[in-house]
Amino acid sequence: TSSDSSSLLEYGRNVTNGLGRITEGILTSGNGSYVEYDDGRKMLDFTCGIGVTNLGHCHPKISKAAADQCMNVVHVQCSIAFHEPYLRLIKKLLPIMPDPSLDSFFFWNSGSEAVEAALKLARTVTGRQNIISMQGAYHGRTFGAMAVTKSKTIYSKGVAPLMPGVFSIPFPFWHQLGQTPDLSESALVSQCLYQLDLLLAQQTAPSDTAAIIVEPVLGEGGYVAAPTAFLEGLRSVCDKHGILLIVDEVQSGFCRTGKFFAIEYSGVRPDILLMAKGLANGFPLSAVVSRKELTDKLAPGSMGGTYAGNAVSCAAACAVVDAIHEENILPKVNERSAELFASLNALKAARPSHVLDVRGRGLMVAVEFATPAGPSAAHDSVTARDAIPAQMASRVAKKCIERGMIILTTSVYEVVRFIPPLNISAADLKKGAEIFHEAVEEVIR
Ligand code: PMP
Repeated sequence: TSSDSSSLLEYGRNVTNGLGRITEGILTSGNGSYVEYDDGRKMLDFTCGIGVTNLGHCHPKISKAAADQCMNVVHVQCSIAFHEPYLRLIKKLLPIMPDPSLDSFFFWNSGSEAVEAALKLARTVTGRQNIISMQGAYHGRTFGAMAVTKSKTIYSKGVAPLMPGVFSIPFPFWHQLGQTPDLSESALVSQCLYQLDLLLAQQTAPSDTAAIIVEPVLGEGGYVAAPTAFLEGLRSVCDKHGILLIVDEVQSGFCRTGKFFAIEYSGVRPDILLMAKGLANGFPLSAVVSRKELTDKLAPGSMGGTYAGNAVSCAAACAVVDAIHEENILPKVNERSAELFASLNALKAARPSHVLDVRGRGLMVAVEFATPAGPSAAHDSVTARDAIPAQMASRVAKKCIERGMIILTTSVYEVVRFIPPLNISAADLKKGAEIFHEAVEEVIR
């Protein structure tokens, strides 16, 4: 009852202050594209728990697969025995890998753990120490993952020294070069690849460099798709110097961008591919996929974890892959994506001095607002910029929440990100877009 939950809420005081929270109350249930709170509020979920419940909350087939597995066996420690869902999941994943060379799997619980394992794998098999990551990258909050994360200082402020041997180059995002959204893609790419050459000449010798880690769509850094030429450039530098290319698809993978994996837009082959989040639609599971030729160099026992590759999570993930095929998810993502882009581009056309950029891929979409100081005088008049409210993105997100839709901001810029369920109905997507339009108008007014 609600009196039970209001007395429970008191224990919120006993939850660490280290966690942030964007909605009030207690979330009690989820169904498809909606979640409900203890006070009866029903909210449209445009976060999917940060890109996790991609097939909607409590998808019947996935929940049933997990429940059935619970009655069979829950925990099989991965160094004690294979379990059936573990191997069945590999059988289902092999045909959808973005490159047939990716034939060696190990499973963990979280995205961060997958990143840690990838860094360890890269160092072990190359015998080299250094790692290059992207400015604006997010790879997680554990120590190695935090060291390659470059999106916000909040994740590592006050906890240095971090893991040594990490270097970074700009990601081809106009902000990172102090430019405006109209800078040409080729100019962006060539400047970033030039910085990579410079880094390898000045700071980390290729023979000391184990890996480059990249998100094919920069997530927490602002929802920016990497141009194909950039990913091809990274691949060719890696090939030239024997450096491994780690592609982090923890957020962009599993159909989020309109292909199974975002790296498929470029045709570039990863040496190590990371996935999590949408992989098991809410059950904790991540995967590190590489080539057998590389992972054969690992000593048995050098990798592992008590819960890694949990049987219930693997059974859920098997149902996820089946549901994606059976429910024809990919074409749906692309249809809804076109509708969302059309709606947001109309807003941009109507509010050119407030909406600076609409970008992303598939249903990983962002709107960036102009900042009052304005990174670009070319985009609007000084008078119009003066009228732009401070902290526009978080104010818009807050208004959306008040109007019944949960939505997140991202990056150090004024960015609101859309991560709706991949199987959301056209009507619910339209409803979400309308709530967003109203929220923007309310904040501007
Ligand atoms: N990599 C990327 C690209 C991510 O977006 C995230 C999570 N937002 C992570 C790694 C870390 O995953 P987790 O929170 O499951 O540790």
